[in-house]
Amino acid sequence: MVFDEHYDLLNEFKSCENKICWQINNLCNFKCEYCFFPYYDEENPDVAKYSHKEILKAFDDTGRKWNIFISGGEPLLYPNFSELVNTVGPHHPIQISSNLYNKYVKEFANTVDPSNISVINASLHIGHHSEKSVLQFLRNYHLFLEKGFKIIVSYVTFPPLFSRIKDDFRFLKEQGVKQVVPLTYFGVHEGKPYPGSYTRDQVEILFDLTKTYPLERLNFLNKMEFKNKRCTAGQNFFFMNIQGDVSSCGTIGKPMGNLFEGTFKPNTSPMICTADNCNDNWLGILSLVDEPEIPETITFTGTPVQ
Ligand code: SF4
Repeated sequence: MVFDEHYDLLNEFKSCENKICWQINNLCNFKCEYCFFPYYDEENPDVAKYSHKEILKAFDDTGRKWNIFISGGEPLLYPNFSELVNTVGPHHPIQISSNLYNKYVKEFANTVDPSNISVINASLHIGHHSEKSVLQFLRNYHLFLEKGFKIIVSYVTFPPLFSRIKDDFRFLKEQGVKQVVPLTYFGVHEGKPYPGSYTRDQVEILFDLTKTYPLERLNFLNKMEFKNKRCTAGQNFFFMNIQGDVSSCGTIGKPMGNLFEGTFKPNTSPMICTADNCNDNWLGILSLVDEPEIPETITFTGTPVQ
């Protein structure tokens, strides 16, 4: 299924009452230096500890309908992942973030019912691809599109990529990719912390690329500052690790029990954010009781212009 060019993905996320980010595994077939998580060459032994039916029951037992945002590691490396999605997805819509480049991609596209997936976020790690492998990534993208999945491509704006970002976005459009979302790089590169060290020229490029996804601009400008604001994290938005331990969000991490052990205990009202910076991206912004203003133009406060 093709997103309309002006389709606002965020409206879909906004309409989800209960959102949970589930880091389902550690193992990944890529080793990106900008990944949030450390690299593991062995899977966590707690992965797939519970059967698919037990996992569905754990979500059902909360009495809520969930929107589950699954990341890893690489989720397609989770054992029998297609079956898990087909078991849980009809009851609790699933979004997955995948590199869309591993040996399970075709099997997943051919066996998962597209109605069980709200959106596939296909992360293109361009620095890890050869000319040949990027074409395979694109074939995989089109396979999902033909099968009727909603799919977007995301691209981490790692500083060394700025010399090619515009060309890459043009190339992806020429190759029939309908939606490409530039994502903020969080981390340290050449001794400088990002996103605070994007230059004005870089931010201008990023603003140009985020015409359809303006929420990302707060990230690029390092303006995810919601301290003392009311947030539904802990009430309707959560982060869950491999073992099923639930926390209020990925940034603050206040423990809220364990979903699989039946001890999950959410707040009954919004919390006051205590973090200097929110690292929960769009889902953090959308969990605020009062949405922040999204800048239309650049008010640049980063490092000196280069
Ligand atoms: S604004 Fe972000 S960091 Fe603060 S409570 Fe909400 S999700 Fe957590």
